[in-house]
Amino acid sequence: MKNKKLYLETNNHLLRSNKKEIERPCRLSFEVAVIGGGPAGMMAAGRAAELGAKVVLLEKNEILGKKLLLTGKGRCNFTHNEADLRKFAEKFGKKGRFLYSALARFGVSEVIEFFAVRGVKAKVEQGDRIFPENGEAHNILKALIKYLEEGGVHIRLKAEVVGLQLEKGKISSVLLPEQQISADKFILSTGGRSYPQTGSSGEGYRWLEQLGHTIITPVPALSPVKTSERWVKELQGLSLKNISLYLFQNGKKQDQRFGEMLFTHFGISGPIVMDMSKGIGESLKNGPVKLVLDLKPALTFQQLDARIQRDFREFKGKMLKNSLKRLLPLSIIPVIIQLSGLDPEKKVDYITREERNKLVHRLKGLELTPTELLGFNWSIVTSGGVALQEVNPDTMGSKKVENLYFAGEILDLDGPSGGYNLQECWSTGYLAGQSAAESLPNFPHKTSPKTKAQKS
Ligand SMILES: Cc1cc2nc3c(=O)[nH]c(=O)nc-3n(C[C@H](O)[C@H](O)[C@H](O)COP(=O)(O)OP(=O)(O)OC[C@H]3O[C@@H](n4cnc5c(N)ncnc54)[C@H](O)[C@@H]3O)c2cc1C
Repeated sequence: MKNKKLYLETNNHLLRSNKKEIERPCRLSFEVAVIGGGPAGMMAAGRAAELGAKVVLLEKNEILGKKLLLTGKGRCNFTHNEADLRKFAEKFGKKGRFLYSALARFGVSEVIEFFAVRGVKAKVEQGDRIFPENGEAHNILKALIKYLEEGGVHIRLKAEVVGLQLEKGKISSVLLPEQQISADKFILSTGGRSYPQTGSSGEGYRWLEQLGHTIITPVPALSPVKTSERWVKELQGLSLKNISLYLFQNGKKQDQRFGEMLFTHFGISGPIVMDMSKGIGESLKNGPVKLVLDLKPALTFQQLDARIQRDFREFKGKMLKNSLKRLLPLSIIPVIIQLSGLDPEKKVDYITREERNKLVHRLKGLELTPTELLGFNWSIVTSGGVALQEVNPDTMGSKKVENLYFAGEILDLDGPSGGYNLQECWSTGYLAGQSAAESLPNFPHKTSPKTKAQKS
């Protein structure tokens, strides 16, 4: 393995041709071809190579892991501190069962170990989110490139795959604009449709439909939400912690979250909004939806009223607008007073019980009207993708095309924020790489570390 080299190649000399039929001389041949150099593709390519396979990784961007570098605001929340694989999988809803095998093979502790041996120590932060100790997504990418290097993966950047060639029900090669690369096994890890500016623009889905796979309609998930209220704009940039958010439709509560959210110029964002966005999007298809914010979920109505009375005693002789600063962030005070229908200049000494009541109700029930999700350009993940019943969960292999495997967000799986989605990429990528290598006719390879391990 040590004498293998890393091949970094760009194909900027390969220009797109206007000709419909392009001669594509088959210059290169590999055992495993991985399409898409995001987290899932890198893990898949690395694992197949670690088992001794001759692997090519094809990425259309000029760098690997363009989206990975944006994760966790550049800090990369690369997994979640949940050792129980069933509890972990539950976060993906009913479909999460699909992940059992992948998580059992390469779960949270294996991922932490994987990065630790490549110099990236894990640090558990608030909400059991796991980040690199030194706080950079860049280090996660470096560790993955090291893994590719160790296995001698042939990396091709600026290599946009434009199609797949099928022969006798199997894929025989991938098509680049003016080149063809043949392989025995193919791993598709082209991601979903979110943040298309990072390269994930959904090409994979098109090819798969042509190959007979069902694609569950991709929709944005973990998305910021647009709201219609004008006052929201005034609060732009305000982040609220420890609040509760409720989703209502036709007077019935559909969902609720507790945690942190953010006001933006168009509406709301932040962890609890993102996590609720899929449900908001689905509910909006059925009609109007209300969101209700409880700014003081730890206090009952009576407790909050008592707390306000205490504050009013302290601020005796002061105007209402200057008497709520112990209770609320400054920027939201005028909005709350206005929405409660109160006079901001009235002295707190003269505020009536009825007026206090209005204030308490507004603090525990601030209504927002969502109009739409912000769309793929701003959504963290894509919900939908390759139908899971057409993929073998023990191998990540296609049940439709013999030599095809899947990894990452291209699958119809999406989890909440908190490191779940990257863990899904590591687990499915590792399993896809392993399965592809193990299904090669000459496996185990003589040079495979696994072979060595088995001997010892
Ligand atoms: C802003 C942001 C922050 C996030 N933060 C977190 C976080 O902290 N924690 C977390 O768990 N998740 C996070 N996510 C989600 C996480 O980044 C994704 O789940 C993950 O990147 C999906 O990995 P993937 O390898 O499946 O796909 P991608 O990362 O999308 O990679 C797919 C790759 O395939 C390439 N490709 C596509 N088509 C072709 C083609 N035709 N030819 C060649 N190459 C092609 C693309 O260029 C791309 O590089 C975040 C996402 C975003 C957008």
